[in-house]
Amino acid sequence: MSAPDHPSDKNAQDQSSKQSLWHANILTLFPEMFPGTLGLSLSGRALERGIWSLEAIDIRAFTEDRHKTVDDTPFGGGAGMVMRPDIIEKAVRSITRKGKMIYMSPRGKPLTQEKVAELAALPALTILCGRYEGVDQRVLDACDFEEISIGDYVLSGGEPAAIILMDACIRLLPTVMGNEETPYEESFSNGLLEYPHYTRPADWTDAKGVVRSVPDVLKSGHHEHIKTWRMQESLRLTHERRPDLIERLKKEV
Ligand code: SAM
Repeated sequence: MSAPDHPSDKNAQDQSSKQSLWHANILTLFPEMFPGTLGLSLSGRALERGIWSLEAIDIRAFTEDRHKTVDDTPFGGGAGMVMRPDIIEKAVRSITRKGKMIYMSPRGKPLTQEKVAELAALPALTILCGRYEGVDQRVLDACDFEEISIGDYVLSGGEPAAIILMDACIRLLPTVMGNEETPYEESFSNGLLEYPHYTRPADWTDAKGVVRSVPDVLKSGHHEHIKTWRMQESLRLTHERRPDLIERLKKEV
C-alpha cells in the first residue's frame, strides 16, 4: 500500500505548530501509561517540538453504568473477561483524526521494520490496547482494526506493545533522528542484521585481563574495505542468528 509522503524536513517545524506530522490516538483503560517512556529522549524531544502528538483516550469514560463496566463474561464459557464492543465503538466514534485502526494483539501479524516504515508514513493511527482475554471480535470487524503483534509471547495488556510500535515509528519521522543517527544502515533496513560496532579505546583490557582490540580494518581509513567487512559481518551474523531472514532474501531475488 502506498502511503502519503511526509512534508519535507524543511517544513517539519512549520507543520508541527499547526498539526503534528504524525498523530496517535490510544484507546486504553490506563491512559496514565502514556506517553510513558515516549516522553523521554528522542521521542520526548520530538513530542515537545510537535513533530508527533498523542491522545490517550480512557475507554472507561464511555461507560454508562455506575460501576463503569468495560468487560463481560465470554459467550461459550471459559476463563477471563472480554472487553465489550459497544463501549469501545463509542470511544472510537469520539475520535476525529482516526487514521489507520490498529489492535495490539498476540494473534496479529508480527511487527516488522517494513510495517513500521509503512505506519510511520501515515498521518494518524488509532491504537487499541486490549486487557483481560482481549476484545469482542465484532468491534474489531466493525471498525476495521488490523491486528499487530510485537512477538510470540503474551503481555498482560496492549499498552507496552503500543509504546513499542510507536517508538519504532517515531524515530523514523523526519528530523527526529539527528545526523549522527541514521535509519538506513540499521538491522532489517536491508533485510539483514547490522554489523558490530566499536568505539574508543582501540585496545581495551576487560576485567579478566583479556585485551580486546578493534578489528584493524576499521582503523585503516580504507572506506571500501570497511564497507566490505561490514557487509561480511552483517551476513555472518544474520546466517548465525536469523537464517529465516536469509531465506526470505533468497525468495525475493
Ligand atoms: N487471550 C489473548 C490471546 O491468547 O491471544 C491474550 C490477551 S492478553 C492477556 C491482553 C491484551 O494484551 C491483548 O488483548 C493485547 O492487546 C495485548 N497483548 C498481549 N500480548 C501481545 C503481543 N504479543 N503483541 C501485542 N499485544 C499483545
